Amino acid sequence: MSVEITASVTPGRSAPSQVETVFIDEPGPGEALVRIVAAGVCHTDAITREGDLPLPLPGILGHEGAGVVEAVGPAVTQVAVGDRVVIGWPSCGECDACLDGEPRYCDHLVEALTSGARLRGEHRGESAYRTADGAALAGHFFGQSSFATASLVLADALVKVPDDVPLSVAAPLACGVTTGAGAVMNVAKPKPGDALVIWGTGAVGLAAIMAARNSPATTIIAVDLHEDRLALARELGATHTVNAAAGDALDEVRRICGGPADYAFECTGVIRVVEQAVESVSMRGTVILIGGAPADSRFSVDHFGALWGKRIVGVLGGEGRNGSLIPALLDLWRQGRFPIDRLIEDFAFPHVDEAIDAGTSGRVIKPVLHVSDDPIAAHRGGAQ
Ligand SMILES: [Zn+2]
Ligand SMILES: [Zn+2]
Repeated sequence: MSVEITASVTPGRSAPSQVETVFIDEPGPGEALVRIVAAGVCHTDAITREGDLPLPLPGILGHEGAGVVEAVGPAVTQVAVGDRVVIGWPSCGECDACLDGEPRYCDHLVEALTSGARLRGEHRGESAYRTADGAALAGHFFGQSSFATASLVLADALVKVPDDVPLSVAAPLACGVTTGAGAVMNVAKPKPGDALVIWGTGAVGLAAIMAARNSPATTIIAVDLHEDRLALARELGATHTVNAAAGDALDEVRRICGGPADYAFECTGVIRVVEQAVESVSMRGTVILIGGAPADSRFSVDHFGALWGKRIVGVLGGEGRNGSLIPALLDLWRQGRFPIDRLIEDFAFPHVDEAIDAGTSGRVIKPVLHVSDDPIAAHRGGAQ
């Protein structure tokens, strides 16, 4: 038996998406079928469409899905039919990193995120998705391919969403928002009085700023080229802002800090900015690399300046487990301390290209596709 869905299919590199009827296998052991309610658009969708990540095409993008569990396969205990859920990153569950509680660094992460096929079970390496005429179709993007009316997912990647949190608010926690917030909360863990500088204020950088505001750091500097972004960064928690178009951003960061910063978060993936971010932290300071640069990019670091205990740390997906960070961020949203809704603008499914382009152009910080109705008509806007 298979399940009929409607999906936005990317037919080939840089090609416009097409709305198609698609068939998915019913959930097997450990799997669940989720009806998608909301799907966030992340920069990674755009670069995958352009061929920078190895998802085979034709395929279905989308990796910030939230929805309602419609069916579960055998041996699923984590969720039940009717649960409202956000779909976290998948992982194998068996390698050293997974067993160490760091599934973001799963040995099989590339396969889990971009192979277009199932990660586990007897059908590992095969896609559960087919076109109407029976041709193979890549799905399972980040374990979800959520630019569709339903997704087949690993049940242990799901995180339940409380009834008073709208699924459109929860969806971006599947990837982009968690990536920025986790870099602060799971990795940096700032000490009282620390100075943080966030290079780039898209969805990931603004999430890092909101997380920093919930930390004992007392100096939170946002750097960007756009005054409107910097204004929003101030509203969300930046104590200082630096417009890099107006002068030497590194000088300005040092002036604000009275020297180098303790932590830099590099959210742009622009190599010149990566090198500035490395320069912006002190001896014993830490620069955290988050932004995605083009494949095969390299950066250089002053060797002498790095010897005094400078740390350069790459972070994927904010580290940690879906089940710890996502519920915490949902609680903070409810308390009005993590206003994700300020980043979101709704788009109607299946206008996926429009939403991706709005994100890529910078016009919208976090486009979220409205795919179907949320069964709980919760109002967006945090504790009010
Ligand atoms: Zn693993
Ligand atoms: Zn993403």
